[in-house]
Amino acid sequence: MFQLTGKIAVVTGGNGGIGLGMARGLAQAGALVVIAGRNAEKSREAAHELRREGCKAEAVEADVTDEGEVARLFSETDKHHGRLDILVNNAGTTVRKRPHELTLDEWRHVMDTNLTSAFLCSQAAYPLLKRQGGKVINIGSMMSIFGAPYASAYGASKGGIVQFTRSIATAWAADNIQANAVLPGWIDTELTQGAREQVPGLNERVVARTPAGRWGAPSDLAGVAVFLASSASDFVTGAAIPVDGGYSIA
Ligand code: NDP
Repeated sequence: MFQLTGKIAVVTGGNGGIGLGMARGLAQAGALVVIAGRNAEKSREAAHELRREGCKAEAVEADVTDEGEVARLFSETDKHHGRLDILVNNAGTTVRKRPHELTLDEWRHVMDTNLTSAFLCSQAAYPLLKRQGGKVINIGSMMSIFGAPYASAYGASKGGIVQFTRSIATAWAADNIQANAVLPGWIDTELTQGAREQVPGLNERVVARTPAGRWGAPSDLAGVAVFLASSASDFVTGAAIPVDGGYSIA
């Protein structure tokens, strides 16, 4: 039920952090994973690391905010593998400023990277996924649920991801495409290392507020990725699943 052998997956931002944690889970379950990111060297290294572990992985350089590069990512995937089964829209960024300090360029940068990219990739993936049915996994956040003073653009993009997920889940259900969102809690990655440096006391507050009593690791997202990518979740669509050590219910 959780077997992904023969499946082709594209993971945006799969070269590090949560994206690599999910890419590794999918690859260990048997999928061939296409890692897409701007940093070609980092993506090649991540794919190499997975292959060293006995998995199937390759790297494609792509900026997912660029319509042309997104089109190329999916046409090359189709050309090389003849199919696409799983799309993980994980690429993301933030600019930590209060709403009255954020510039329009910064707002657009965060929205383009976190939300418009998911639209572009999902739209480009749709004709491929539709051929045999498929899975879209979008990455939200605790900021899909909560507000925070430094997260106006980030929170808007992550709230938008949940609603976008529900839209495509309804639109594409008849094509046997399931779309779900994952809402990670506080996960130890480059993104949050920056936050920990900038926000005094954040580390301790996260540990105290999280019932599991720890930060998450990228590997904590592997299981949910495999579930949502596999036939085990064929009747699950439009859901937004927190993977947060209980943060959102405490
Ligand atoms: P990282 O900064 O470690 O990873 C971000 C990834 O996104 C990188 O692989 C980066 O690759 C890629 N990326 C950024 N911009 C682009 C772009 N324009 N085109 C292609 N790829 C891009 O962060 P995380 O692993 O922490 O975050 C991954 C996702 O998880 C994000 O959506 C984030 O919002 C979300 N998230 C993270 C949480 C956490 O606690 N860490 C909590 C909740 C959600 P490259 O630079 O090579 O392009």
